[in-house]
Amino acid sequence: MPSSIKLGKIAGIEIGVHWSWVFIFALITWSFAGGILEEYYPGWSETRRWGVAVIVAVIFFLSILLHELSHSLVAKARGIHVEGITLFVFGGVSRLGREPESASEEFQIAIVGPLTSLAIGAGFAILWLGLQGPAPEAAAVAGYLAFINAVIAAFNMLPGFPLDGGRVFRSIVWARNRNLLRATRIASRTGEYVAYTLMALGAAQFVASGVDQLRFLSNPVGGIWMFIIGLFLRNASAASYEQLVLQTTLEGLTAGEIARRDFIPIPPDMKMDHLVSEMMLVGHGRCYPVVTGDELLGLITLTDAQQLDREQWPETSVYRAMTPLEKLRTASPQESAASVLQLMSETDVNQVPVLEGNRIVGIISRADILRLIQVRRAVAVEN
Ligand SMILES: [Zn+2]
Repeated sequence: MPSSIKLGKIAGIEIGVHWSWVFIFALITWSFAGGILEEYYPGWSETRRWGVAVIVAVIFFLSILLHELSHSLVAKARGIHVEGITLFVFGGVSRLGREPESASEEFQIAIVGPLTSLAIGAGFAILWLGLQGPAPEAAAVAGYLAFINAVIAAFNMLPGFPLDGGRVFRSIVWARNRNLLRATRIASRTGEYVAYTLMALGAAQFVASGVDQLRFLSNPVGGIWMFIIGLFLRNASAASYEQLVLQTTLEGLTAGEIARRDFIPIPPDMKMDHLVSEMMLVGHGRCYPVVTGDELLGLITLTDAQQLDREQWPETSVYRAMTPLEKLRTASPQESAASVLQLMSETDVNQVPVLEGNRIVGIISRADILRLIQVRRAVAVEN
């Protein structure tokens, strides 16, 4: 998540805040000042209400931060590099250098977050009890913070991947069937069910506000929130499964291994009409490396041909029409296949030549990788 404000480091872990947090910070301050405090302390001045509301929002923020820190610190203790923590509108994410390697590792990293929130909530609940006599105002704040931390713990324990509860669930399935991919599929499918349930509940609360007989269910703002959170969870669970499929299926493969070596090298002086009629139109493919000796000069594709007028094909050399090497994305044979695929989707290119120095070793096309993923996935799921 690039658009975040950096706050500093705790235990070597970079802490950042996504801009969307400004929004939730304002929302919490506003709902606390205008809602609970106004109801319970009508005698308070505006300034006092807003002052207390800001303090509550800051403590809320610190509670979320502690929750995320607990994940990160357990991960660090297990030898996983932690790149940083970003707090954003729906909570926070810890960016770990790698996925957990075992079910027990995953279980420990995931469960500690909700437990931390629960502990913070319990702490505030004790404060709430203790302060009721001597300081009822502080007690109200403590009571609200106890409640909200309990909600955070409960929400995160919903069994939908990638929520903490979903990770706990995945680790249990993983420990039983010893197949990470299948466990992830089960956990992210559950995540989708949880997401649809949240969306349905949210929609119901929203709709109920317009129907007299359902007024008791009415909660339009909360309903919209719940719907958005459901939507977010649905996308996140699908995306994290896809990500894992790519990582695990391509694991250990290098660009050199998956590169297609049976490419047809094209000499730079070949004319475009010849290339189109003798190569492309007879089904040898739509992308060719332009090569002298075994040195790559560029790539010539169907798109390059289409950008010329047909009348120009007979007198235009491939060399003039191609995309030259310096404008191409290339890979080295040692690079991981997964990173090549990532490069392709980030830059929206379909072919990446694999080079050793200037010498072409092979070509990787997106279609080839996707076919390979299908095959490897079919084999992995059957095992
Ligand atoms: Zn968490």
